[in-house]
Parts: sequence; structure tokens; C-alpha cells
Amino acid sequence: MTSKIFRTVILGAPASGKGTIANRIVEKFGFVHISPGDILRLNVSNGTALGKKAKTYMDEGKLVPDELIIKCVSGRIIEAGNRSWMLDGFPRTVAQAERLQATEPVDAVLNLDVPTDVIIERVKGRWIHLPSGRVYNEGFNSPKVPFKDDVTGEDLVQRPDDKPEIVRKRLEVYHEAMKPVLEFYEKYNLVTKFAGRKTAEIWPEVEKFLLKKTEEVVAKRQ
Ligand code: ADP
Repeated sequence: MTSKIFRTVILGAPASGKGTIANRIVEKFGFVHISPGDILRLNVSNGTALGKKAKTYMDEGKLVPDELIIKCVSGRIIEAGNRSWMLDGFPRTVAQAERLQATEPVDAVLNLDVPTDVIIERVKGRWIHLPSGRVYNEGFNSPKVPFKDDVTGEDLVQRPDDKPEIVRKRLEVYHEAMKPVLEFYEKYNLVTKFAGRKTAEIWPEVEKFLLKKTEEVVAKRQ
């Protein structure tokens, strides 16, 4: 392929700061942000056929079947055309990772690593704008107007599943589920871990890494 696009996957536990880092990456590097969770929620609220099929799984906190999610992600990858992209919330199973690697091999997997106690504390102050998926955090990433989205001015909400005991459970489930996915990518030497307690510590490392890596990959494809 002669294309110079850069393909990346961002992994991080719920409330690890993945949303904030992902938004900064999009601003700085202009990647197309592909988030199946956001796509599905939009489809659910618009009542599309995909939304109707996905809703039953989402309501039960279950993963949407691979076939459905792969179709939805590949559609977005095709739409991205010759623009670089970043997947956020995909892959979540080895089957998804294998499918992606067979059709659109990624150049880098960014693995955000934030301690569990930090995450539990953090979710208490997390507010989201449902239609866009934009995430705010009291203290270090507050909205300009309290409880309002910066872009649309619409209300921000707290997710019911942001309660500490539910978060702890979700973190366990996340790590258990991601283990084989990480092992899959480690075989290809694609994983870079970014460890820290704060987004302010992690972001400069991610930025430095991507500046270097995108240059390398693009140079190789000249
Ligand atoms: P969270 O699990 O933190 O709520 P998302 O916003 O990424 O995260 O996803 C919302 C829901 O959409 C998930 O609970 C799941 O039902 C579905 N979903 C998102 N991404 C995937 C995926 N890669 N594979 C299967 N289902 C997914």
C-alpha cells in the first residue's frame, strides 16, 4: 500500500483518562476518532436498525456480537479514506483484534495504565455529554460552565455505573477481558504502555511517542 495513513488503537480501563487523551490526540494529530461505543449510542438514540439490535446487549452490559461491531467499525474505517485513524473501544475481544489485524494492521497500540485507586477516586467527579461522548472531570478538565457541555451548552450527566463498587467490578472485568487482547498485540510488538496517576503525566509521553512514531511510519511508506 502506498497510503501514508497511521492506524492506532487506544486501550485504557474505564475512567483511565482514555477519553481525554483520545480527544487530545485528535486535536494534535488530526486522527479520525472511531469509537464504537459512541457510534452505538448514537444509533440507539436515532432508533436505527443497528441501534435496535445493539440496544439489548448494551442494556445488559454485554458486548455487542463481533459481526455487528466489526461491520460498524469497518464502515467508519472506509469513511476515513486516506486519513489516519484511532480506534477507541475496539478491539475488545481477540476475534475483533484478529479481524482488524488481517484487514487493517495497526501501527501502534497505546495502553494507558492508571492505578485502580486513582480511577475509583476520579469517577466520583466525572461528567459526560451523552450525544457526543465528551468527558469532563471536576478539577482538572472542568467544563467552562458547570454541568454544561463546552460545545453545545447542553446538560452533562453522571453515569449510574460510575458508583465505586460498580467501577471496581468493571475494572476487574476490563482487565480480565483485555488480557488476551494485549497478549495478541504483544506478539506483534505493538504495545506501548503509558503509566501514570494523572492525565497531565501521561499526555506528554503519548504526544512524544506519537510524534516520533507517526514520522517513522509515514517515512517508511514514502
Ligand atoms: P463502556 O463499556 O465503558 O460503557 P463503551 O462506551 O465503549 O463503553 O461501550 C458501550 C457499550 O457498547 C458496551 O457496553 C458494549 O455493549 C458496546 N460495545 C462498545 N464497543 C464494543 C466492542 N468493541 N465490542 C462489542 N461491544 C462493544
